Amino acid sequence: MSAFAPFVARHIGPSPAEQEKMLKLLGFSSLDAFIDEVVPSDIRRKDGMAKLPAPLNEADALAALRKLADKNKVFRSLIGQGYYGTVVPPVILRNVLENPGWYTSYTPYQPEISQGRLEALLNFQTMVCDLTAMDIANASLLDEATAAAEAMALAHRQSKAKSNVFLVDQRVHPQTIDVLLTRAGYQGIEISVLDCSGELPDDYFGILVQYPDTHGHVADYRELVEKVHGKDAVVVVATDLLALTILTPPGEWGADIVVGNSQRFGVPLGFGGPHAAFMSTRDSFKRSMPGRLVGISQDSHGKPAYRLALQTREQHIRREKATSNLCTAQALLAIMSGLYAAWHGAEGLRDIGVRVHQLTTQLALSLEKHHFKFTYEHFFDTLHIDVGSRADTIMQRALEAGYNLRRIDANCIGISLDEQSTEAEVKLLIAIFSGRTDDDIKLEKPQAMLPAFAVRRSTYLTHPVFKQYRSETAMMRYLRKLSDWDLALDRTMIPLGSCTMKLNAASEMMPVTWTQFTDIHPFAPLDQSEGYREMFGQLEAMLCEVTGYDAASLQPNSGASGEYAGLLTIRAYHDSRGDSHRDICLIPQSAHGTNPASAAMAGMQVVVVACDEDGDIDIADLLAKAEEHKDRLAAVMVTYPSTHGIFERNIRELCAIIHGYGGQVYLDGANLNAQVGLAAPGHYGSDVSHLNLHKTFAIPHGGGGPGVGPIVVKEHLKPFLPGHSVVPLEHRGGMTVSAAPWGSALVNVIPWMYIRMMGAKGLEQASAVAILNANYIAARLKGTYEVLYSDAGGHVAHECIIDVRPFKDSAGISVDDFAKRLMDYGFHAPTMSFPVPGTLMVEPTESEDLGELDRFCDAMLAIREEIRRVENGEWTHEDNPLVNAPHTMADLTGDWNHCYDRKTAVYPVEGMNPSKYMTPVNRVDNVYGDRHLICTCPSPLDYQ
Ligand SMILES: *Cc1c(COP(=O)(O)O)cnc(C)c1O
Repeated sequence: MSAFAPFVARHIGPSPAEQEKMLKLLGFSSLDAFIDEVVPSDIRRKDGMAKLPAPLNEADALAALRKLADKNKVFRSLIGQGYYGTVVPPVILRNVLENPGWYTSYTPYQPEISQGRLEALLNFQTMVCDLTAMDIANASLLDEATAAAEAMALAHRQSKAKSNVFLVDQRVHPQTIDVLLTRAGYQGIEISVLDCSGELPDDYFGILVQYPDTHGHVADYRELVEKVHGKDAVVVVATDLLALTILTPPGEWGADIVVGNSQRFGVPLGFGGPHAAFMSTRDSFKRSMPGRLVGISQDSHGKPAYRLALQTREQHIRREKATSNLCTAQALLAIMSGLYAAWHGAEGLRDIGVRVHQLTTQLALSLEKHHFKFTYEHFFDTLHIDVGSRADTIMQRALEAGYNLRRIDANCIGISLDEQSTEAEVKLLIAIFSGRTDDDIKLEKPQAMLPAFAVRRSTYLTHPVFKQYRSETAMMRYLRKLSDWDLALDRTMIPLGSCTMKLNAASEMMPVTWTQFTDIHPFAPLDQSEGYREMFGQLEAMLCEVTGYDAASLQPNSGASGEYAGLLTIRAYHDSRGDSHRDICLIPQSAHGTNPASAAMAGMQVVVVACDEDGDIDIADLLAKAEEHKDRLAAVMVTYPSTHGIFERNIRELCAIIHGYGGQVYLDGANLNAQVGLAAPGHYGSDVSHLNLHKTFAIPHGGGGPGVGPIVVKEHLKPFLPGHSVVPLEHRGGMTVSAAPWGSALVNVIPWMYIRMMGAKGLEQASAVAILNANYIAARLKGTYEVLYSDAGGHVAHECIIDVRPFKDSAGISVDDFAKRLMDYGFHAPTMSFPVPGTLMVEPTESEDLGELDRFCDAMLAIREEIRRVENGEWTHEDNPLVNAPHTMADLTGDWNHCYDRKTAVYPVEGMNPSKYMTPVNRVDNVYGDRHLICTCPSPLDYQ
């Protein structure tokens, strides 16, 4: 098959012959007959998604996308406002961003197979702590604006001040203020935007300032901080990591929470994202901090090992009481930024910071010579210049030279220099401003123009990890070492239920690094992003056709962000009809933790609906709750097929009941992989869904992000789709949920490629095979294990739940032991304890072929036989390969005093891959790590 052969055969794992074999085992003569049986006929769509364009092969799809890319115009953007030019180090570009070993890995919930990315994320946290001079940092947030909103919520939780007012300085980035206004809305927080150098009101619980501010000014906030702390209120600072290489960090002048975007540390602009935002805080806030936190614990042999810390704070456990709804974050981008810091080290970063600042001083002083006046005396990289009536002319001259500047208002222009800036560029800018065309523009001498209060004296990035990898050979090997520690899709299936870890094809990924997509500033003039916007239009239309909805928004940066955005459309719709009192959200017991967490963020009260013993939503209970709350019913949030992996037969009825009581239906689209082409939520009664493009539509998971969580809505909700004040979006009057108008714009090329190459038939076939694969696994494991939940015909949808709870009593074997033992067999564990505690949920996806499915089933069956040896006393409860799993090379080469042999430990079945994966650490102790919390790179002495 060439690049001109249909792509679908590359994407779908099982060959037609293999599918036939599997169908035979299930007792069906054809895939169609099988699907007819599994998917309820009353929701089955038969239109063949006729509006999708015909499929393209890989070469033609790339060519078609190239045409769109060529409609973008790559200008040099000095707009700043949170997004800056940067140089992605090629060693990181090629070995991380373009390397499936990094981008196809999952969120590191299983620490033993995730030590590489956990170390990389710990580097990121250490970098953020050091540069901001704070105690503790998390492993990324979605963007700077949502990070500021999370900080506001954290401040609200922590502050002892009895007030609901949050002060925001007027010179915070405007897109951040927009998202703050959105988040405050249903949280009972009142935002007051003011000039923080003037009078402050009497009562408030916190304040947000930007440092340097959006116009580039570096202010001395020390007095302000004292005043705010005197009120028991919390100081939040939005800042810029590159500036902090030479500016006094916020932690040294009293900040309580620091947020920002790490984009300019080696992550392309990408028209607004994805980039990793960060948050660092004082130690006392850590238990209330949102997002994931990497920490150091120890393994069962007392060796240091990384793992995610304080997970009980997260929405998975705390649901509507969680600190945030954040699930997928920006792991891959955080990893890139942390590695950028390791690559340059403190001296290298400082050099970049100094150079950018000095070029900016040269620009400022030279402009002054030409009678321009920069407004603020103290700046790092950004100038605010009042040019009076010349603004239009200067902006025009800049465009003609291929430059975007920031138009602040009628008379003022902003310029932000960056890592890519040179003296030649500064000269060109002076020519643009002065109108001079001769070549001998003389630059003023660079000067240090920072006031004493702003000069950083403290050191940072002193840990060896920021010193050891300066040669490319050393960095290349470091990256290889880390990715070798990890188990990603490039080595094995990742059968995580609900997460849909399918193929992320190379042809889908290639456009991610095309400069026409990477090098566009989100606030560039719209005529420079025509290709992007045409691509978005096509993607939105295709997603609507796939889901049966009428309009889409690509703004949300994750599934959970989509949930929040979708619930906001529901609230706005009720508000528009005078139904503002509708604030009750019904959520089934089995829902994903983000659902109740998002509902709480949207100011809704969660009412839990029971599930019956088959795992289906208890319709009688739903009816009773809807009746009980009929006056205040806002919405129901359901996942379909259910989180139990079942096509419930009464989904139409459920939607009708909710509508009957005046509520709206929110259908969580995370499980869309079971229904693309087979059924469409918009056709059977749902009003709004989010989609996880990083599940169903082939965006890789990146070790925990990026994600794209667009919402799709019926016509009546369309006016409430997220808008944006910096870049007005047509027909979208809703609240802003992300910093960038199109969210994580860059990675939308992936689903575009996926849908264009699969076509309607290919997508439908993918869903069918995903269901076939899950049912095949269920069928092979039935008899040995109980498969919890199936429909009346005994079938599951695209995932199945394996009950391993009985082995706790029979052999002392826990679900953890299964997960860890599977690592010895070379597998990533399935989803553990969701939606049913103590069980495993397996989702193979359509991309895994029969050989891989059988390998997994054989491993599961072999593990059952191992348990039998514990049950019959051959092995003890305390010493058997399951409780000791995973086994490491150190185990094999050290003393061996187990009641099973080494071969059983690491080559338990015949025919295992000779290049077998081994975890670098033994089982990691979570409890120890949470008791002795360490979330930055430890001193090298600690390792000894
Ligand atoms: C993955 C998932 C989500 C959350 O999506 P994120 O992108 O991780 O925020 C919500 N609901 C369900 C059922 C999911 O599986």
